[in-house]
Amino acid sequence: MFQRYEGTAWEERLLTRLSSREVGDMPKDDALVVLPLGAVEQHGPHLPVMTDALIGEGVLTRTMERLPPDSNIWLLPPVSYGKSNEHLDFPGTISLSAATLHGILCDIAFSLHKSGFRRLLLFNTHGGNADLFNVAAREIRLSTGLMVFYVSPGSVGAVSDLISEEEREFGIHGGDVETSLVMAIKPNWVHDELRAAEMPDVARYRYLTLEGKIRFAWVMSDISESGIAGDATRATAEKGELILDRIADALSEALLEIRMFDISAVKKKAALSPQ
Ligand SMILES: [Zn+2]
Repeated sequence: MFQRYEGTAWEERLLTRLSSREVGDMPKDDALVVLPLGAVEQHGPHLPVMTDALIGEGVLTRTMERLPPDSNIWLLPPVSYGKSNEHLDFPGTISLSAATLHGILCDIAFSLHKSGFRRLLLFNTHGGNADLFNVAAREIRLSTGLMVFYVSPGSVGAVSDLISEEEREFGIHGGDVETSLVMAIKPNWVHDELRAAEMPDVARYRYLTLEGKIRFAWVMSDISESGIAGDATRATAEKGELILDRIADALSEALLEIRMFDISAVKKKAALSPQ
């Protein structure tokens, strides 16, 4: 038997397992559709190239299990490829261009709008997608009227007390967090003996950083020999389990909040200056 779509999340929350009539009849006012967006790109010598896509599915599987059965929150099949051109110097990376990925997002959003949905969450597990997704989210808002939300799991699940200060600052790829997560989700896909530590040498700059303050454009081969930025030697499956649980706790609450959000209630009446 084919066993890919197992468990509560995929049996009960996958929008595309429903028939056209079921989707049509579904109440849309409080519905939220979640689109998982990952990447297929090198993650160092120890992790599979589909790490980001895999983490997204793992996190959402656990998150969906925590939702009340009547919560009207639906999962779409993941877009497993992302904009990964910063990793193209490493084999196994498969990247979409910015224009292609932007087009895919807009086409999916337009189709959801045609089906009558009002809320779309872009659930992103690859940092290299982030800038494009913020642009696309606003385009979709303008062109379809959909309420569009954007989240990456790193921004909801607090992991800062579980990792080193150096990892917090520079561990952006294939390091402690991602390795721990894959060790928890799919342990037999990790080459334990090849786990390494490599941090980019930018700590001496006051303003220049990889992803904050003042940025410089980089590709992975500019900043890393092994293809990772972080310390994968500190990763453990137990840590990965804990991170998964924390993200699922926070994200399941966040999804319920997003489902009830209505953008028409955000604008207040302007206060006039006293006469
Ligand atoms: Zn990654």
